[in-house]
Amino acid sequence: MHDPAEFRALHLDRFLAEPDIFAAPGRVNLIGEHTDYAEGFVMPAAIDFATLAAISPRGDGKIVVYSENYGKERVFDAVNLPVEASLHWSDYPMGVVAMLARDGCEIPGFSLSLWGDVPLGSGLSSSAAVEVATALAVVSLNGARYTGAQIARLCQRAENEFVGANSGIMDQFISANGAEDHALLLDCRDLSYRLVPLPANVALVIANTMVKHAVAGGEYSCRRAEVEEACAVIARHRPEVKFLRDATVDDLANWGSEMTANALKRGRHVITENLRTVAAADALERGDMAEVGRLMAEAHWSYSHDFEASCVEADAMVELAQDLPGLLGARLTGGGFGGCTVNLVERSKAPAFAEALAGRYEGRIGIHPQIHICHASGGAHRLEAAAVAGGPVEKKT
Ligand code: ADP
Ligand code: MG
Repeated sequence: MHDPAEFRALHLDRFLAEPDIFAAPGRVNLIGEHTDYAEGFVMPAAIDFATLAAISPRGDGKIVVYSENYGKERVFDAVNLPVEASLHWSDYPMGVVAMLARDGCEIPGFSLSLWGDVPLGSGLSSSAAVEVATALAVVSLNGARYTGAQIARLCQRAENEFVGANSGIMDQFISANGAEDHALLLDCRDLSYRLVPLPANVALVIANTMVKHAVAGGEYSCRRAEVEEACAVIARHRPEVKFLRDATVDDLANWGSEMTANALKRGRHVITENLRTVAAADALERGDMAEVGRLMAEAHWSYSHDFEASCVEADAMVELAQDLPGLLGARLTGGGFGGCTVNLVERSKAPAFAEALAGRYEGRIGIHPQIHICHASGGAHRLEAAAVAGGPVEKKT
């Protein structure tokens, strides 16, 4: 996370007003891929990277949004909010503002500064971090009360309905509700969840393949359609099956022959991934890291072979980690076709692990990967004054 005191000074300098500051983290999914829209289970953890949002009220009815990452600001009118996206970074914060307004929240004028260290567009959910930090900041101005789950839903709607990205609830939910040293097992059906402890001596090592093969989300929609086809075939025989969450491996054995080969494989991934995700949470609770590692390996195999959402580079990153000292489990995380792998690694061995993995990956693929050593961090929150206070800051006159 960037230095909050520096960020406060930056906002004060630009807007001549003392801000309140909020932080919302990025995330990594430990297990449970493409299960969210089948009303299944996911198990992400919030990570150390976060977006900070500084907010102060304005008397002129304007909304001024500034991103330190882009070095740019945009001005809006609080009583005449944008109704559609403008293919600009400000769509993310303004989508949240628009959803709050749609929710009946009164929107006053304000100045909002954003500054994040979640790598943008790397699959660690900088978008959810911006949305959730913005939501907490704006809600704090008018005293509205939102639970973490409501904040997550609101931000998901901002991303789906305003920005126009077809994402599930996981990213916003973990950013809003994550807990230090815990993963979160989320039931995407009813948003009930369980915090699951991660051992203090285990690091989350996130290895970015630096490639992304999916073209404009086409593969995502295609996989989703195949998952729905598998579900529809099962539902013909068992109408109580509304989503693959309700289906079993027996259903596939009974009626898989009525599906296309692809739908059968995608269905098998989702059904077994749901089982693995719950089993991984149970194993973590027992402290059985060997079982967690085994489930992650199985999940990667399923994601790569049944769901066919991996790629040469991601398979290499997982394979090259296998015999490195300290590795407990590795798999491709996120939407697939590139992006990052997540590795559970004994903390004391994490730096050497990261260096060796980077060397091996560069040797095989010819690209130097970014590797981040993280820990499971807390969810979105307001920063206490003490955390924000650096040295004295001169107020401009
Ligand atoms: P990811 O969520 O995996 O990082 P996305 O494409 O979903 O990737 O979201 C990235 C987008 O979110 C950026 O292109 C930008 O529009 C917006 N964004 C993220 N962080 C910031 C920030 N600090 N300031 C302004 N916009 C941001
Ligand atoms: Mg995103």
